[in-house]
This record gives sequence, structure tokens and C-alpha cells, in this order.
Amino acid sequence: MPFIVAIDGPSGAGKGTITSYLAKKLKLMYLDTGATYRCVTLKFIKEKVNYKILEENTDTKNTDSKEIEEVRNKIEEILKNIDIEFTKDKIFLDGEDVTHVIREDEVNNAVSQVSHIIEVRKAMVNLQRKMSENKDVILEGRDIGTNVFPNADVKIYLDASVEERVKRRLKQNLEKGIESTEEEVRENIIFRDNNDKTSKIGPLRQAEDAIYFDTSNLSIEEVENELYKIIKTKKKQCKSIESAYITTPETLWKRMSRAVIKFVLSSLYRIFYRIEITGKENLELDEGYIICANHVNYLDAAAIVLLNKKYIRFIAKSDLFRFRPLAYLGRVFNIIPIKREKNDLASIKICLKALKNKEILGIFPEGTRKGLEKNVKVKNGAVFLASKAKVKIVPAGINSTFKLFSKLKINYGKPIDIAEFENEDNDWIEEASEYVMNQIVMLTKI
Ligand code: C5P
Repeated sequence: MPFIVAIDGPSGAGKGTITSYLAKKLKLMYLDTGATYRCVTLKFIKEKVNYKILEENTDTKNTDSKEIEEVRNKIEEILKNIDIEFTKDKIFLDGEDVTHVIREDEVNNAVSQVSHIIEVRKAMVNLQRKMSENKDVILEGRDIGTNVFPNADVKIYLDASVEERVKRRLKQNLEKGIESTEEEVRENIIFRDNNDKTSKIGPLRQAEDAIYFDTSNLSIEEVENELYKIIKTKKKQCKSIESAYITTPETLWKRMSRAVIKFVLSSLYRIFYRIEITGKENLELDEGYIICANHVNYLDAAAIVLLNKKYIRFIAKSDLFRFRPLAYLGRVFNIIPIKREKNDLASIKICLKALKNKEILGIFPEGTRKGLEKNVKVKNGAVFLASKAKVKIVPAGINSTFKLFSKLKINYGKPIDIAEFENEDNDWIEEASEYVMNQIVMLTKI
């Protein structure tokens, strides 16, 4: 799974410098999406495309005017054949090095309008996605977190006051030997901000889940260091979760580690709790199945796994893999991580495969600890999996306060055949989930 970082914000917020630094330090491919729009703009200038007449028609295919139609056809033709290539430190347009030309005034003054022509936008978003395919990548632009990669792993929105951005651009121009007055630079920044923010397609906007950073009163180094820490931590987490999805054949060492850890931890349970288990015969099925239990304490999933001769794999939220010791146990016991906020297809696939392999899965239908007390709606994931994999659900009621030396009772109930609930009615899955939960609750009272 590639790791994707989106850096958005207005021009002059420091995106370029900061993104290229982060790319190097974090070993990510750097993609300056603004440069793709700049290349198209340069090409339009060279080919004398009269794109200005499209201004009023950026998102409607106005074919009433012959002139507009001709411009659109020309644009389509150019976009079909344009060849934009990025190397480590150079940008090529149709084989020609344009690294510096695309930063000159002629392009500066036109790029905002060109980038908001619907055909240009579609083509460039496709190109940016293609360039990023299967890579760990950091992209800077205006609409990365909202449009190009709405599922990016990290989203940052960099901002700065207009005055600060004018100051920075003037300094940059001076260093590059580009002549410009303060008034010109301010005008250009305000014009581009306005154009970018009010665009009907892919406007500049902070994504809801982006981290906001105002760089006006911070040095570049301060921002770089802060972002480096945030992204590095997230990258580590993502890679750790990802490794939990990799199902390589188990080594003897892993199986032995699991046996030893299970022996030690189950002995501790037996020392610290008075264990009583009923209904073990309900676990003797000659096929895969799902154990569904009530969730009262962090220790209950472990109790089911440890106090059972059978090998049971629990499904747990992927956050668990953030903590090293838990991540280690998660891996040894082959816990299946699930990203709760997303429709986690990878997890679902692993669960189905495991059930087909006659493995036993453990799921808490409450979804969270003490879900019933909190009035949380019962989750229907277990019933969904059971129905898809055609396996049964074994309900389990856990009864314990988990205070040291108290009683810990686990009652396993009769396997529930989910197929008996299936019908044309869309509500059947919810009804079956409620039934499973009711059985669990009854079992906690025995
Ligand atoms: O980042 P840079 O200033 O080089 O971008 C040039 C222009 O390209 C911006 O002013 C903006 O109009 C456009 N752009 C865009 N979407 C992006 C990146 C740049 O519309 N993702």
C-alpha cells in the first residue's frame, strides 16, 4: 500500500521548499503538481491557444460559438499529445528542459486561468495520479487532499498572511534575479488566491481532515521539523499496520513464540482470576466460525484467546498497532487490523479467507467497550462475514468485573446459523445482528 502525503495551500505559503525538504528526508517521491499546470500553460502560450475566451465557460461545453469550439478542439489535441516528464531536479515538456521557463512571468500570469479549464484539470489530475501510482509520494498543490487523493494518509494545509507571502516572493525573485515590484507581486498573489479559491473545479480549500499550519510567524526550519515529526510518525504507523496485512506462512519461531506467550499469559489469568467456562462443546465445529462476545474490558478478548485450546484470531481496530508491545502481540497472534473509519476491504478479504481456511475469528459486535451501556447500535460486520463465508456464529457471554481474584466466567452458547435469517428484506442483517447480541446478553446472565 503506497503512502501518500498531500500538502495544499496558497502560493507563497512555503509549500515548495518544505515539500522538497520533506521528500528528501522521508524518502518520498516529490510531485509538484503546480508544475504540471505550468507546463500546460507554457504549451498554450507557445501554441498561441486563445484560452482566454473560455474564461466564462470553464465548466460548460459551450459549442454555440465556432471559435470556442475550435479552441476546445485544439486544447483536447494538445492534452492528448503533451509529454510532461519530471526527473529528480528537472522538468521536461515534450523533451525540452523547461525547469526555469515555467517560473517566468508570462507563465505566472496565465497559469491560474489555464489550470481552471475543465479539460486541463481532468487531464492533469489523471497524470498526477498516474505519476504517483504505487509509490510513496508527497504531492504539493491546491486540491491534493480534497480532489486528487482524498484518501491520502497525511493531509497538511499550509497558510500564511498575504503580506508575509509577498515578502517571501520578493526575496525569492531577488535571489533568482527576477525583476518585480512589491505592488506587482501583491497583485499577482491576490489575483491567484482569488482565482484558486473560487474555481468551480478543484478549488483551493482545506480538507476537513487536514492539519492546518499558519507559517506567517514561523521559520521554514520550524515548520519543516514539525511536519517531519508528524509525517514520520504516521508513516511508521501505516507501515506497521500494513505489515499486519501481509500473510506470509508462519515460521516455527512464530508458532513457538505464540505457544510460550499463551502459556505464560494464561497461567497469569488462572492465578489472578477464578476461571469458569461453560458450553465448550459448542466450539467443536468442523468448519470455520465466528465467536461473538460482549466487550466489557480490554482483558476480555485476551481471555477468550488465551483460555481456549483452539487458535482464535480477533479482529481489532488498527490503532492497536500503534503501540509497540500490542503491535508485537497483534502480529504473533495474527490479529486482523481493521480501519474502522473506512470500508476496509483488505481486512474483509483476510477475514473471509481465514474463515474459508476453517479458522476461528473473534469479533465484538458492540464495536467498542461497553457498547451496550453506551447505547451504541450493534454492528453487523460479524453477520455480514458469516453470511458471505457461510459459517456459523458462536455467541459468548463474559461475566466478570476483572477485579483481581474475582470470578471470570465465559459461557459459550449454541452456534447460530445465519442462513436462517437471510431473506430479500434489507433489514435481515440488522435483525440477525440484534438476535446474536441478545443471545450474548442472555449468556452473560448465566
Ligand atoms: O504551485 P504553483 O504556484 O506552481 O501553481 C501554479 C498554479 O497552478 C496555481 O496558481 C494554481 O492556479 C494552479 N494549481 C492548481 N492545482 C494544483 C496546483 C496548482 O490549480 N494542484
